[in-house]
Amino acid sequence: MVAFSYRTYAATDVCHEVAKWVCGLCVLRVDRRGQDRSVTAAAVDIVALTRALVDIDSTTGREGDAGRWLAGYLRERGFSVTEQPVDHSRFNIIATPKSEVGSLKSDELQTSDFRLQPSVVLSTHFDCVPPFFPSRVDGDRLYGRGACDAKGILAAQVAAADRLRRDGESRVGLLFVVGEERGSDGARKANDAANGSRYLIDGEPTDNRLGLATRGILRVKLRAGGRAAHSSSPELGDSAIDKLIDALVDLRSIALPHDDVLGRTHYSIGLIAGGVAPNVVSPSADAEIMFRTVSDGAEVRKAIRRLEDRVTIEHVIEVPPVKLTTVPGFEAAVFPYTTDIPFLTGWGAPLLFGPGSIRVAHAADEYVSITELHAAADHYVTLARALLAQLSSARL
Ligand SMILES: [Zn+2]
Repeated sequence: MVAFSYRTYAATDVCHEVAKWVCGLCVLRVDRRGQDRSVTAAAVDIVALTRALVDIDSTTGREGDAGRWLAGYLRERGFSVTEQPVDHSRFNIIATPKSEVGSLKSDELQTSDFRLQPSVVLSTHFDCVPPFFPSRVDGDRLYGRGACDAKGILAAQVAAADRLRRDGESRVGLLFVVGEERGSDGARKANDAANGSRYLIDGEPTDNRLGLATRGILRVKLRAGGRAAHSSSPELGDSAIDKLIDALVDLRSIALPHDDVLGRTHYSIGLIAGGVAPNVVSPSADAEIMFRTVSDGAEVRKAIRRLEDRVTIEHVIEVPPVKLTTVPGFEAAVFPYTTDIPFLTGWGAPLLFGPGSIRVAHAADEYVSITELHAAADHYVTLARALLAQLSSARL
């Protein structure tokens, strides 16, 4: 019985296997089939939805199955769902509340179809870091890869949007992207689909606090060149390793930008390589440095330019820091990591909020507190209503 119902929208056998966790909704659907197409009367079971998503392996690059399952789930819940392709097997999900056309105001309609244009969008990602491991519950903790980052968050956002939709609120939508953990290709693509929303509430683990700001990143590669020679005659060579070490020591004394909210720039020398053999003066050496920036990366690049006396500096990647929108009544904090927000600039003023701690995200025993998940859904509803009220009062 359960299997029959889920065959109607589970995309694969993998999805079918995990669909057992949402059997409450399934039963409701079967009982009402033929009499009532509204199968969404029950509130979203956040734990069941989180477990269903965790149990589908969606390690970055393999999000297809999870995406198909989630899109089907949201359609069953009464959302209009758009699957935006990112590559041949992966897609983002954009979901808006479905509504009877007759109940819409003209400015809520897109001309090409009858999909609503939400003013507030709840968003997170459904890819995860490796390795995959399935869900389990122990007391208040829901374990599993992605439980904290970010499938529990996603489930709380669905629960909030669904509650608002059932209360008749048509201005809150959902955006779930792929690829956040490996370069944000999903978010970059999603920006093409921005549809006039005014606020984007991005979900990452913040212990249910609002973000004040997030740091950016600037990754550079320092390359030193030299001349190989027999180490018994070092005067015939030119040591690249010596130049690289001198540059790295010099870096310690360079004043880097400071920000009143985010603090000082810090950095890690994450990779270092060089030389060919113990008895050869090194002809080459390089190091990769990750700066966690607090202002425009150009300021760091300018500050470290003096290292070019010894090494060349290759720009690898940059993501800017972000100052975030806040709402009164919520605890707020600064977060040192980057998110998809810098790539979702078209989706409105950004906020950052989510259950769970970044300290256990990506960890071997990743988990999220079930109490926090339920509280997060309530907070998302409150945030969305507060932002919508701001928009309404701004129009008066
Ligand atoms: Zn995340």
